[in-house]
Amino acid sequence: MDLTYTPAYEAYRAELRAFLAASWQRDWRRAPDAAARIAGFRAAAVEQGYLYRSTPRAYGGSGQAPDVLKAQIIREEFGLARAPTEVPGNGVTMLVPTLLEWGSDEQKDRFIAPTLRGDYIWAQGYSEPGAGSDLASLRARAVLEGDEWVVTGQKIWTTLAHKAQYMFALVRTEPDEPRHKGISYLLLDMAQPGITVRPLKQINGDREFCEVFLDGARAPASWLVGEAGNGWAVSRSTLKHERNLVGGASTLDEMFDKLVELARTTVRDGRPALADPVIRDRLAAIEGYVKAHLYSSYFQLTKEAQGEPPGPIGLMNKLNATNIGQDIARLVTEILGPSAMAFPDRDARGPERWLNQVLGSLGLAIAGGASNIQRNIIAERGLGLPRDSGVS
Ligand SMILES: Cc1cc2nc3c(=O)[nH]c(=O)nc-3n(C[C@H](O)[C@H](O)[C@H](O)COP(=O)(O)OP(=O)(O)OC[C@H]3O[C@@H](n4cnc5c(N)ncnc54)[C@H](O)[C@@H]3O)c2cc1C
Repeated sequence: MDLTYTPAYEAYRAELRAFLAASWQRDWRRAPDAAARIAGFRAAAVEQGYLYRSTPRAYGGSGQAPDVLKAQIIREEFGLARAPTEVPGNGVTMLVPTLLEWGSDEQKDRFIAPTLRGDYIWAQGYSEPGAGSDLASLRARAVLEGDEWVVTGQKIWTTLAHKAQYMFALVRTEPDEPRHKGISYLLLDMAQPGITVRPLKQINGDREFCEVFLDGARAPASWLVGEAGNGWAVSRSTLKHERNLVGGASTLDEMFDKLVELARTTVRDGRPALADPVIRDRLAAIEGYVKAHLYSSYFQLTKEAQGEPPGPIGLMNKLNATNIGQDIARLVTEILGPSAMAFPDRDARGPERWLNQVLGSLGLAIAGGASNIQRNIIAERGLGLPRDSGVS
């Protein structure tokens, strides 16, 4: 592992700092025209090569050669300046890289640039009531009628489907093929009579994900990504991006600092929680995991910078990140005591904000592949253990 930056990278960091100082002010986020300011800043950052680096300029990216160390410097400096990074959501993190790898020219031209600008919100239509971890058993059917696919079935846990303009979905197009080979990756316009979206109320009171009913939904034949029947391979590249995303280390480092602050400011039995040796011990253990996770991410970065395949380390980072998130949630619950049972309020300041972390940590360990599934893959591909006999 090499944790130093060469003088050339330090010069790059200085240039980036100068750009951020000249182009972004933290309080713009609270300005009445915040949306326009953020959009203007993002456009300037793309122009300079700091955002959407691996997306070609023709599709609205900055067309830079891949460089994981530059990407890391950008993450660090944007974080320090609290500057807007890339548009959040499935569209940028999952759909765009998938279209770049598998999409037709028509699909790239039509969808990538507006998605990067944040004009299109995308939903991910993979899971079904009978197909989660065992995704290959999905049953939503798509049949080609003339020059359109007609889709029937049901999706579930579809994040933001009620706000999305489009969905990338896995559908069965070749029912007679073995189950992994009969699946295709299809883009769907959500604004059509064949699609009904029903938001689901979650444990924290939000309605962030939905059931999606597909009843004769239609998509142009040309909106199938990759070959018909090859959707499993296409979907694998989307999932890889999702897991890398959830595994990010710097968020946990920040969250740990806030946890220490919570222990310092919460008074129990007349003294700060931090004065309790049991709490201090738990904090020390969590800090160990957070630092180990951070260095594991640097190790992944170093391997990528040296052009070596990172192996299953991205999966390990996702698993570790969500485990640590749950450890933090458990300690928060202990520090806050009975008030941890109060109903979370998203707009609240202070300890109430932690309640979303407590409940959200459960979901993050399931989204993008449940923890036990990560363990299976790490065991099989990383350690070479025999395949799970229950999975085909
Ligand atoms: C916050 C959140 C957002 C989500 N967003 C989306 C979305 O936008 N689009 C979408 O398509 N899906 C989404 N999902 C769904 C998610 O992908 C599934 O919940 C996940 O794949 C697990 O599937 P399941 O819920 O059917 O659980 P199951 O597959 O029924 O698993 C239940 C339990 O059994 C364990 N298990 C299952 N099989 C095995 C095995 N072979 N070996 C060991 N243990 C096993 C699992 O680890 C888990 O603990 C989201 C989920 C969450 C929590």
